[in-house]
Amino acid sequence: MEQAAIKPTGRFAPSPSGRMHMGNLWSCLLSWLSARSAGGRMVLRLEDLDPDRCRKEYCDQVMRDLEWLGLDWDGEPVWQSKRTEAYAQAFHVLEEQGLVYPCYCTRAERLAASAPHRSDGLSVYDGRCSRLTAAEREELEKTRRPAWRASVPEETITFCDLLYGNYSEDLKKDCGDFIVRRSDGVYAYQLAVVVDDAMMGVTQVVRGSDLLSSTPRQLWLQDALDLPHPDYGHLPLLLSPEGRRLAKRDRDQELGELQRRYTAPELVGQLACAARLMDRPEPITPQELLPHFSWDKLPKEDLVWSLN
Ligand code: GLU
Repeated sequence: MEQAAIKPTGRFAPSPSGRMHMGNLWSCLLSWLSARSAGGRMVLRLEDLDPDRCRKEYCDQVMRDLEWLGLDWDGEPVWQSKRTEAYAQAFHVLEEQGLVYPCYCTRAERLAASAPHRSDGLSVYDGRCSRLTAAEREELEKTRRPAWRASVPEETITFCDLLYGNYSEDLKKDCGDFIVRRSDGVYAYQLAVVVDDAMMGVTQVVRGSDLLSSTPRQLWLQDALDLPHPDYGHLPLLLSPEGRRLAKRDRDQELGELQRRYTAPELVGQLACAARLMDRPEPITPQELLPHFSWDKLPKEDLVWSLN
C-alpha cells in the first residue's frame, strides 16, 4: 500500500545574542523553504539559554526580522530560558541511567585534559573526572561546583544528511564526553536542543554545517531519552571574502545595516541565487521561491559571500 507523504515540521532556532546576520538569514530561509515547500509546519524557538549573552530585546528583534524577510511560523514561539524544568527532567533521566558524571576541571584543566584539537576547533576530553573515586569527588566538591558530562559509549553513529549524505562519527574518539550542564547550572545546548525539538514536534532540522558534528551527539541523546530522531539537513556556510565564517562581528552583514541598503525581496533573491535556486539574483519573496526549492539544487561547498 502506498504511504501518504508525511508533512515535515521544520524550525527556526536562532540564538538571540545580537542582531541576525546573513548567515542566520541563509539558514532561516532554507529551513523555511524546505518545510513549507513540502506543505509542512514551521515553528520558532529562541535559543536564549545563556543569560550572559542573550537579551530579551534581541528576541523581539529576531521575530521582527523574520517577519520583515517574509518568513512566518506556526504557533507560539518557545523560549529556552523558560524551559529549565524540562531540561532538569531530561538530565534526571540520564542520571538514572548512569550516563552523566560531574566534572570538576577548570577551563585550563579541561584544555590540558583534551586531545589535540579537531578540525572544527573542538577538543576531545580525556574523561579524567569519570575516574575519580568517591573520596576524591567529595574533596573537590568542597571547593568547586562541577559541570556535568554525558559519558559516551564506544559507538559509531551514522545518519543520512539531506544534503551531505552519510555522515559518521565515533562518539568516544571524535567527540568524547561532552558537557550537558555547566557548572553555573545552565543546561547545555546539546541537551536543550533535543528536548525542545521533540517537545515541539520537529521532524526536520535544517541548519549550518558547523553543527554537522553535533548531530551524532544529539542522535545519541535522543536514544538515551527515548525521543524520536528528526531528519537532518546541513547547509554550506557563508564565508567572508577572507574565507572566515560570517559572524556577528561582520557588522556590514548584520540585518540592521543590510535593511538600509536592500529590500527584503532583494536580499532573498541574492540568497536564492547563492543557493542555486535561481540563475540570477533578482528580487523575489520567500513565497514566490517555494516552487523553485529542491535539496538537489543546493551546493555542498561553502560559499564566499558578497552582495551584488
Ligand atoms: N541556535 C543555533 C544558532 O543560532 C542553532 C542551533 C540549531 O539549529 O540546532 O546557530
